[in-house]
Amino acid sequence: MNQSKLTAQELREFRKQLESLVARLNGGVAELRDATRGPKREGDLPPEPADRQGDPSSHTAEEELALVLMGTEETVLAEAKAALARLERGTFGRCEVCGQPIARARLDAIPYTPLCIDCARKATR
Ligand SMILES: [Zn+2]
Repeated sequence: MNQSKLTAQELREFRKQLESLVARLNGGVAELRDATRGPKREGDLPPEPADRQGDPSSHTAEEELALVLMGTEETVLAEAKAALARLERGTFGRCEVCGQPIARARLDAIPYTPLCIDCARKATR
């Protein structure tokens, strides 16, 4: 297992990554909200038949994608903020469930993840 402890330099790098991620998502989430709630601009989307309202399975592909992205981005934003809080507390890089160090490669890929790979696999089951 990778038990390597993160250095102060590495923690600074992760903080920078997380801070820019939070800044970007703060803007991005607002934009996506506008896209899904605001009036549709002409030419952006194909016209929608009125009888499709209320059926969640009948969103247009564009709407579906925007909703998925919004959900994901809001989740990521919340997790990135939580990760910054863990940086402050000095618990960054440890799994919130089992307390084991999160593998460095996983942190590089997903710096805001609160879970080690084992717990993440369990959580998605
Ligand atoms: Zn774990």
